[in-house]
Amino acid sequence: MIKPIIHLSDTIIQVKVPLPFPLRWVNSYVVISRSGWTLIDPGLRTPEAEQLWNGALEELGLPIGALEKIVLTHHHPDHYGLSGWFQERSGAEVHISGTGMEQVRALWGEGETMSAELLELFRRHGMDEETLAPMAEHMTSFIPQLSPQPQLTVIDTERPYKIGDRTYQPFVTPGHAAGHVCFLDEERSELFCGDHVLPQITPNVSYIPGFDDNPLRSYLHSLDEVGKLKVELAFPGHRDPFRTFAERTGQIIRHHEERLAAMEAKLDEPRTSYALCRDFFGDRLSIHQLRFALSETIAHLFYLRDEGRVRELEGDGVVLYALN
Ligand SMILES: [Zn+2]
Ligand SMILES: [Zn+2]
Repeated sequence: MIKPIIHLSDTIIQVKVPLPFPLRWVNSYVVISRSGWTLIDPGLRTPEAEQLWNGALEELGLPIGALEKIVLTHHHPDHYGLSGWFQERSGAEVHISGTGMEQVRALWGEGETMSAELLELFRRHGMDEETLAPMAEHMTSFIPQLSPQPQLTVIDTERPYKIGDRTYQPFVTPGHAAGHVCFLDEERSELFCGDHVLPQITPNVSYIPGFDDNPLRSYLHSLDEVGKLKVELAFPGHRDPFRTFAERTGQIIRHHEERLAAMEAKLDEPRTSYALCRDFFGDRLSIHQLRFALSETIAHLFYLRDEGRVRELEGDGVVLYALN
């Protein structure tokens, strides 16, 4: 049994909110101030998560009316999902970066076209019709887990940002998600790093249509940038707080360099992203895992293409990759 509430300091509390995926939980952080409390990344909306929060607020003695604001490091459902539920009960503002807000609208706004665009992308990259069919349903299956959707307020990432009684420097860190933001307390060298850098797990880097043409390039760049910051303690979105931040950024960069080289090694003949994805991730993935595995493979191939290491060949509406 995971202990869900961990007091990290006088003012910062880690709350492990359950997830129905292999990741098992997402970290929410409660920051106590003189006048109330702030909530960072409240989690995915499930009955188990609601139950956990009801118990946690009671145990911690936190009145819902004293919730001052909800801060999102990025728009992914496992972080954003419960923000509307909290806003509805507290009236608190929900803060996210401008690009984060655009992603929310594109993915789950009224009249969204992203599901159709993603299916078309997967088809073009070689996914067969039999696998595509359940994917369509999967795309919209998240909606109940992030409803009701909140009113969003955009964070000015150019300026210092208050969380509780302390001032943080926001850093926009695209790659895992466009518009992802980390928040650094420069005085204490403590960083809320969301899913940008995780201990033990390599954050997913996915291509999705219409935002970042080369998310892996953005990711490697923003990893390199944050790796230079003075961070003594990092508070990640999954697993536990860790002290080896700079070292971990280096490991993740090396992981991607190795993956890129391994992909090139498999291109002795032209192949689709989907064929490579199956090779790397196997064929026992759930539909949820397969979606991210294929988007990640596409992100790597786009990187190799933009670096001039591979080229795209068109055939029958499907894209193949060949070594240059
Ligand atoms: Zn994420
Ligand atoms: Zn996450």
